[in-house]
Amino acid sequence: MCGINSMKLGPPIEVFAVNKAYLDDTHPDKVNLSIGAYRTDEGKPWVLPVVRKTELQLANDETLNHEYLPVLGLEAFSSAATSMLLGADHSAILEGRAFGVQTLSGTGALRVGAEFLARQLGYKTFYFSQPTWENHRLVFLNSGFTEPREYRYWDANNRTLDLNGFLEDLQGAPENSVIILHACAHNPTGCDPTHEQWEKIAQVIEEKKLFPFFDSAYQGFASGELEKDAWAVRYFASRGLEMVCAQSFAKNFGLYNERVGNITVILKDKQDLIPVKSQLTLTVRGMYSNPPNHGGRIVATVLNNPQLYDEKESIRTMANRILSMRSGLKERLQRLGTPGTWDHITSQIGMFSYTGLSPRQVEHLVNNYHIYLLKSGRINMCGISTKNIDYVAKAINETVLL
Ligand code: PMP
Repeated sequence: MCGINSMKLGPPIEVFAVNKAYLDDTHPDKVNLSIGAYRTDEGKPWVLPVVRKTELQLANDETLNHEYLPVLGLEAFSSAATSMLLGADHSAILEGRAFGVQTLSGTGALRVGAEFLARQLGYKTFYFSQPTWENHRLVFLNSGFTEPREYRYWDANNRTLDLNGFLEDLQGAPENSVIILHACAHNPTGCDPTHEQWEKIAQVIEEKKLFPFFDSAYQGFASGELEKDAWAVRYFASRGLEMVCAQSFAKNFGLYNERVGNITVILKDKQDLIPVKSQLTLTVRGMYSNPPNHGGRIVATVLNNPQLYDEKESIRTMANRILSMRSGLKERLQRLGTPGTWDHITSQIGMFSYTGLSPRQVEHLVNNYHIYLLKSGRINMCGISTKNIDYVAKAINETVLL
């Protein structure tokens, strides 16, 4: 038992600490490449036009009220989210083997899924990529998993996927280990397996009786196409694997603070659906009872209305801005003759790039150029704009030359 006055200070959460240091900095040229949120070319947060339009429409709809949602959330939301992930004509949906549960964004989906697997099904071991989003470990441990393990993922020397290491670690994993997989736009490396590589990964997961747990926080953000970015999840599901997938609508709908998420559950057998749903209901009931309405209602309205859905080209706008900043940064570094190869900036995908900058170089960028990024060298490409791209490239060049 620990008394409250003998409590030790918890470690800071790096990404929030770096973001705060940026906000506190008064330098006019400061640049924030830390926190994972989209920014326009003016460096501003962006409310997607379709979201604004839907919010206004909902605000004027007097049939809506503030009654509780069901424990598993809005059915119109969770079924649309599941269809967005798998494609409405996926066999798992048509055969009635897949369903969704509305959650508190992607983190909440991970937590509900993990707690269900640990507490209701007795799973103990989970594997996450080395490196991964820094919250996976904490969420799974807090959910009741007791054996955290890593699989090799990033080959730092070649700045690419360490497929052999990855497969070897999966081969060595005990049966019934849960494997966390990034559906697309791997955070933090921006490096995704190719289709052929995914096929090999699925093969081992199936052979070794491992349990795939996808984390889909960036559907649409990687390529600008929802279908393309869901390829891996759809492929695994088409092999008939039992699996879950956490979905976040923070990035692709720009609904960060509304906490809109979904956990899609895909079963082998349709007859398991009702009991599984009933147990998940208890998981949620004991955690937060039922989810909030606002964000889920917006997403449901957009996804269920073909006219509004078409306006989701905003996703393409965001993805294309990121892609153009990637090529712009690479070109500038190459033009400056910055030592090293910079092709990884454009071969990586999604919001983040793993630059390969060392912790010492990161410190130099923060202290001398007021450019804020994580110690790992991860940068959020959305923090770069046509206004600061020359400054960032020059700063990286001068830092690497030191
Ligand atoms: N998974 C990954 C890989 C992420 O990068 C994030 C957001 N940074 C999340 C899950 C969860 O995001 P949220 O809870 O905001 O939806």
